Amino acid sequence: MTELYDSIITGGGTAGLTAAIYCARNGLRTLVLEKSAPGGQILNSPEIENYPALPHISGFDYSMALKNQAASFGAEIKTQAVLSLSLSGQNKIIKTRRGEYEAKTVILANGGVPRKLGCPGEEKFIGRGVSYCASCDGNFFKNKNTCVVGGGNTALDDALFLANICSQVYIIHRRNSFRGDGKTVAALEKTPNVTFLMNSAVTEIRGGESVEKILINQNGEARELNLSGVFAAVGQAPETGFLAGLVALDAHGYIQAGEDCKTSIKGVFAAGDARTKPLRQLVTAAADGAVAGVAAAEYIAKNWQGNAVQMGK
Ligand code: NAP
Repeated sequence: MTELYDSIITGGGTAGLTAAIYCARNGLRTLVLEKSAPGGQILNSPEIENYPALPHISGFDYSMALKNQAASFGAEIKTQAVLSLSLSGQNKIIKTRRGEYEAKTVILANGGVPRKLGCPGEEKFIGRGVSYCASCDGNFFKNKNTCVVGGGNTALDDALFLANICSQVYIIHRRNSFRGDGKTVAALEKTPNVTFLMNSAVTEIRGGESVEKILINQNGEARELNLSGVFAAVGQAPETGFLAGLVALDAHGYIQAGEDCKTSIKGVFAAGDARTKPLRQLVTAAADGAVAGVAAAEYIAKNWQGNAVQMGK
């Protein structure tokens, strides 16, 4: 006999854990399946500056508070990767390596994975000089030359963080202006060991056992930089490959769902960065979690007899 939950949430980031709070507070038996540590992409951010009323909180503290809040309302949180889903029936079936679960509703809150640079040498040197997490790996590059690729807030924050550890930090961005905050750009401009390489793209990563140099194209001219670490911060891609053929995805792999978080399948909702939406922020992920959690409770109240679900605020 598999266990029947009211709602199973795949992904324990901001969207998934907020959905868990709303599901559990609405009296739903709720399970969150997260493949690694709760918190998602924000877990390793040194500081979050743009979440309302929490001006300076670390990603770790924020993630732990969110996880504890969801658990305090009775949501179960298990560290298990989803292997397969069957979503078309009234009972949704989710398989992990440790077991099989059934649920009346599923909330897909899988978030994203780091986007790759796509240049020769990148795959070969992952873990040997190529990293997607400055706060995780920065200390391996103490007093060494590194670069950060990207022009968003992650790249800018990563460069500031690495400038305290590394001898030299190059910021390599494909445009001549940044999309990240001007305040951080101003701080970087005042940091002596940071060099901006604008209108530039990494064309190859080279080395022996580990990264030794990169080739870049700057304004059409080829250049070489001797460095040991390449931190790619070029955004995220949705982690939805396993959903192909199960729910409607757009051309970029995002789950097609509007602001009501309803997907193409009844009883299945999408929340957070994996959903088609104009702005991917913590606060919009949290908003999706709330909408999806309440929508799941409403769906059960309408479609499952004998479930008198009390709708919360
Ligand atoms: P992002 O804002 O999507 O920025 C990605 C950057 O990578 C862009 O500058 C983009 O260039 C560049 N890029 C994309 N694909 C590329 C490729 N193949 N090669 C080279 N460059 C490429 O991603 P993010 O910086 O991870 O931020 C995600 C969200 O989290 C944002 O909303 C951000 O504000 C937020 N965030 C906030 C904080 C904070 O508040 N402190 C910290 C981190 C992140 P283009 O500009 O040319 O598109």
